[in-house]
Amino acid sequence: MAKKFHNFINGEWVDAESGETFENRNPANWNELIGTFPKSDKEDVEHAVEAAVAQRDAWANLPVPKRGQILGRAGDIMVKRKEEIAKLMTREMGKILKETRGDTQEGIDTAYYAFGEARRLYGVTSTSELTNKATYTIIKPIGTAGIISPWNFPMAIPCWKIFPALLMGNTIVFKPASDTPATATKFVEILNEAGVPKGVVNLVHGPGSTVGEAILKHPDIGVISFTGSSAVGRRIAEVAGKNLKRVSLELGGKNPQIVMPDADIELAIEGVLWGAFGTTGQRCTATSRLILHGDIYDEFMDILIKRTKDLRVGDGLLESSDVGPIINESQLKIILNYVDIGKQEGAKLLLGGKRLTGGKYDNGFFMEPTIFTEVEPGMRIEQEEIFGPVLSVIRIFDFEEAIAVANDIEYGLSSSIYTNNILYAMKAIDKLEAGITYINAPTIGAECHMPFGGFKNTGNGHREGGKWPYEVFGEIKTVYIDYSGKLQKAQIDTEITK
Ligand code: NAP
Ligand code: MG
Repeated sequence: MAKKFHNFINGEWVDAESGETFENRNPANWNELIGTFPKSDKEDVEHAVEAAVAQRDAWANLPVPKRGQILGRAGDIMVKRKEEIAKLMTREMGKILKETRGDTQEGIDTAYYAFGEARRLYGVTSTSELTNKATYTIIKPIGTAGIISPWNFPMAIPCWKIFPALLMGNTIVFKPASDTPATATKFVEILNEAGVPKGVVNLVHGPGSTVGEAILKHPDIGVISFTGSSAVGRRIAEVAGKNLKRVSLELGGKNPQIVMPDADIELAIEGVLWGAFGTTGQRCTATSRLILHGDIYDEFMDILIKRTKDLRVGDGLLESSDVGPIINESQLKIILNYVDIGKQEGAKLLLGGKRLTGGKYDNGFFMEPTIFTEVEPGMRIEQEEIFGPVLSVIRIFDFEEAIAVANDIEYGLSSSIYTNNILYAMKAIDKLEAGITYINAPTIGAECHMPFGGFKNTGNGHREGGKWPYEVFGEIKTVYIDYSGKLQKAQIDTEITK
């Protein structure tokens, strides 16, 4: 019998009120049922929010270092369970073990960052413009945060959001992606074991269209932190906008890797292989466009094709696999449809493009690593996020053209340039319209203490990672203390006359 999983509301593991469930299966072997999960709806969200609201004061009144200790303990537990978490994550969403270990490590690093940050929630102290008056800031929790996460980083992304939200003293209603409810459950189990009091973190499984919507619309949820597609992000911004709710959005990407003729070619090839086909291309920061200089084009492509053919596609649980499956059948169809679109647009399908079948592939959603050449700027495969192992190669002839092609896109998450010319590197840092620019490294590889997010339609200006999300989850209060014993008027009493 498959394991039955639950929601976690007010410290209790419970079914959906309706009693309905949904299944979670392994994309490398769809016959393997990982478990059934509550298919919750609005009513379950109501209960979760009630519990979260009831615990607000108690959690917010706990001194911040005490909250930090609990979060640090969660990090300790994750260290002990790293392998178990990684294996579960690979089973439920497919990426190879090396990467699910990395995903878990990012969560651990974020826990320890929160532990340290607990003694570093500095405000601003300044001098007053008036005599016998002091001014400084403090930061208060918002109340209850709604956390909505995608499936491609099932541990790292919830950790990026939930650790800062908790440290800031908020209580949580957490809706993970329907494709990765098991890793989310494990995370909530760990928070509970670490000592997060009941009702502070509430987990509600179920569809975005019901559970997600109910979170967005709930008047007692003061801030929403969302990572996912631009389409859903727009919807969230709309609803949140109507209610003047704070919202942090981390959305799609269409990330370029530029390679100039003076680059270390071997290094640039390793970079594009890892950037384009790591996580089977299902990363917001995946390298989906290779912007390659004409002078090295033939040589580069010869090696790249050979090396791409060598990639071993298979079950992520096997150490021998380099590339795991696609998350589910409908996503595989979307990617294969993009292959058709690319062909119709006149790009040349140089490698791959097909679903893998036969033997070990029959029960999963595997696809060949795919490369299109003769891709022109403006083609749909060059502009739209495919979210699969599909690389579009665009040939350019000078640096300015490379930058123009890289920037001619609605997104602006990550970017990379391989060059040994300091002038190109510095200009690229200046000109690339992206939240992250790598020099001589692929478009993927963010570190937990540095800001992560994008320009343009990749988001709404917030950043995750490091100290940045702490402001998303806090309200700043400015304090003025007047000890002059008289009414002093700012701007009026202080007028400076010439
Ligand atoms: P998605 O379809 O937008 O789903 C993200 C989350 O939103 C899921 O939990 C989903 O629930 C929920 N949701 C769906 N409809 C909703 C609604 N109407 N109201 C509220 N919530 C709703 O994205 P995904 O397919 O999971 O993830 C892939 C996308 O995430 C890509 O576009 C990728 O670029 C982006 N991403 C961005 C970053 C970044 O930091 N910039 C990082 C990783 C991924 P269900 O699962 O139940 O549908
Ligand atoms: Mg699954």
